[in-house]
Amino acid sequence: MNERLVKLKENALAKINEADSLDKLNDIRVAFLGKKGELTEILKGMKDVAPEERPKVGQIVNETRAAIEEVLEDAKKSLASKALEAKLKSEVIDVTLPAKKTNVGHSHPNTLALEEVKKIFVGMGYEVVEGPEVEYDYYNFEALNIPANHPAKDEQDTFYIDEKTLLRTQTSSVQVHEMERGKLPIKMISPGRVYRADEVDATHSPCFHQVEGMVIDENITFADLKGTLAEFAKQLFGPETKVKFRPHHFPFTEPSAEMDVSCFKCGGKGCRMCKGEGWIEILGCGMIHPHVFEMSGIDKDKYTGFAFGIGLERIALLKYEIDDMRLLYENDERFLKQF
Ligand SMILES: [Zn+2]
Repeated sequence: MNERLVKLKENALAKINEADSLDKLNDIRVAFLGKKGELTEILKGMKDVAPEERPKVGQIVNETRAAIEEVLEDAKKSLASKALEAKLKSEVIDVTLPAKKTNVGHSHPNTLALEEVKKIFVGMGYEVVEGPEVEYDYYNFEALNIPANHPAKDEQDTFYIDEKTLLRTQTSSVQVHEMERGKLPIKMISPGRVYRADEVDATHSPCFHQVEGMVIDENITFADLKGTLAEFAKQLFGPETKVKFRPHHFPFTEPSAEMDVSCFKCGGKGCRMCKGEGWIEILGCGMIHPHVFEMSGIDKDKYTGFAFGIGLERIALLKYEIDDMRLLYENDERFLKQF
């Protein structure tokens, strides 16, 4: 009997040693110490043991049970701590790993150029005003001194919704709305999308963007216009930038001019950028025509003002040295990613 007990203990300890999970340990406990386990089986043989031997055998049985239980308990603890360790290892957060990158894209060159233009004028105290892209003929042409038979209407041929409604050809229409509101003085820019019935080529598109500006107050002169636009050019193209005004004609301003800036690439010596001329045309401007004031109900004897219009694409093309306007609209990511 003693031998059987020793063998059972050895056997049990060996199995516990091999066990690699808590479930297996439990199976071993049942197999050796359970009600139908091997130890219980051996105990049943106690009746064959001589009475004087029984206490001694009983003690050995108890010792065997205690020994197995102790080893089982240790094995259980060690397995549990190993399991915890494995769990912690698998759930560990490596703070040195690079963060997940969210692809949010970035601003289009037009947007970048617009932000810059806005920043400059807002810095000078201008308000940014937006208006409708679908506009009445009156606001787009007539109120800007372009009557039905005016040749300028041909140059700005657009898309008509019906006889009186069209897609605006210029953001100047927003200025008319502001003048009609009659809250003077006015110091505003109106950026936005405009439409013309133009064929697509390197410098034309049926849909493009303008930023128009307008200042109306008492005693506004051409000197204010020049000072403002010269400052704008310096902020946009650099402090060395010079400006030059060439007489021009626009129906809603008198006198009118086109403004050139000294080439920011060559400084005026002449290069590919400025086509060898040293100057680059960037905007049209002028003093608001008294007739335009009259039509919008502003006292032309009390107020004067100036207006200017900038092609946003032109600024974007110049600033980023892009030589074909179509690139701005093709939405080729490889191109757009550069800005
Ligand atoms: Zn140049």
